[in-house]
Amino acid sequence: MTRDQMNILIVVQASVIVFALGTSVGSFINVIVYRLPAGVSILFPPSYCPHCLNKLKPYDNVPVLAWLWLRGRCRYCKRKIYIRYPVVEVVTGFLFLFVFWIFQFSLSTVGYWAFCSWLLALSLIDLDTMTLPDSLTKSGLLAGIVFQMVYGFLPESSWVGLVHHLKMAIGGAVLGLWLFEAIAIIGSIIFGKTAMGGGDTKLAAMMGAWLGWKSLLLASFLACLVGVVVGGGTIILSRHSRRMALPQTWGQQIPFGPFLASGAVIALFGGEAILSSYLRLFFSTH
Ligand SMILES: [Zn+2]
Repeated sequence: MTRDQMNILIVVQASVIVFALGTSVGSFINVIVYRLPAGVSILFPPSYCPHCLNKLKPYDNVPVLAWLWLRGRCRYCKRKIYIRYPVVEVVTGFLFLFVFWIFQFSLSTVGYWAFCSWLLALSLIDLDTMTLPDSLTKSGLLAGIVFQMVYGFLPESSWVGLVHHLKMAIGGAVLGLWLFEAIAIIGSIIFGKTAMGGGDTKLAAMMGAWLGWKSLLLASFLACLVGVVVGGGTIILSRHSRRMALPQTWGQQIPFGPFLASGAVIALFGGEAILSSYLRLFFSTH
């Protein structure tokens, strides 16, 4: 076997493990999204069927596969298992895989796995309840600051690096707070009501800590872009058809958290490329 073949084999094996890890974390995200807004403990009791309350066997808890071999139904009461559970597990698996392919074997990979998991959990809770729980946005902000400090310190055990990254994280978080307060004020002047909830501001602060100010600006811009397209589309569609299966609350307000989170993930995966090609386009014409 040549060296190249060896390397490919290692990457393939690692990818399978990373995907499996991602689906397991996705399974935990499902638990958080279901239990946190309901105020139920996240660690106890172990997984159960929400209909018949039977405790799940360990082998019925395997991400994605359990859903497949149970054919999407509870083993005991035969009620349908919400398709969203395996979908969230698969999505988390792919998020973990993309992060691994981009950042490879590094501290960034582990950090951004956490960041993406936080974003996904927040997006799903926002879709369900139109709120972003403080416990998640604040812990995510703290995790982002700690990640930046470790990231700045580790390569050369440098305290200067640590302080530099700490400043960047706090700067990004403050920009997030400031930017979204400003947008909320402008929104309330134009639309006569608050365009965004306080939770969005805290989510933006969390994103600023993880991404830094440049990628935060890009992520916010992308979020508004996606928000206008999807939001506008939903309003037009709901006028034409009352039969759209959208949550009731969407009539008055569309949750902004999922758009912010999508912007953050796009900025994370393609931010450098988007920013540098934009800057090249902008400056080479002058
Ligand atoms: Zn059941």
